[in-house]
Amino acid sequence: MITKHSGDFKWDNVDVLPYKEDGNHFKSITRQVLFCGDGDLPVEFRYFDVGPGGHSTLEKHVHQHAVMIIRGKGTVMVGDQITEIGCQDIVHIPPLTWHQFKADRDDYLGFLCIVNHDRDRPQRPGTGSDVDEICVSEEIREFIRY
Ligand code: MN
Repeated sequence: MITKHSGDFKWDNVDVLPYKEDGNHFKSITRQVLFCGDGDLPVEFRYFDVGPGGHSTLEKHVHQHAVMIIRGKGTVMVGDQITEIGCQDIVHIPPLTWHQFKADRDDYLGFLCIVNHDRDRPQRPGTGSDVDEICVSEEIREFIRY
């Protein structure tokens, strides 16, 4: 089966969905489910589009992500590392590793993301001690939005 790209990072018969249910822990981001597998390929293949200055949720979970940037540029935090990212870069989010994606102030950041179909719910920083656990450097303290 073929799903044709219909322009501007949208695909035929693929809905542009809210990133998550309501919240103020993310900004200017949409989600599209491009492929939902089963059998020996129990994965979801998604596309996330982050508008200029937007960001994903600061979170961690047991399930892993494999991500490839296909639009614009931005910055990602994975654990204790902050890295500038752009097209064709690949990001692996290991289990239980805090992470957050941000688009540049003047550019979009669009990325493909594979996850297991059966996965645990993301955890967000819930207490002051969580935030201190995340902030292993001043750079990270300034980077994160939650
Ligand atoms: Mn995640």
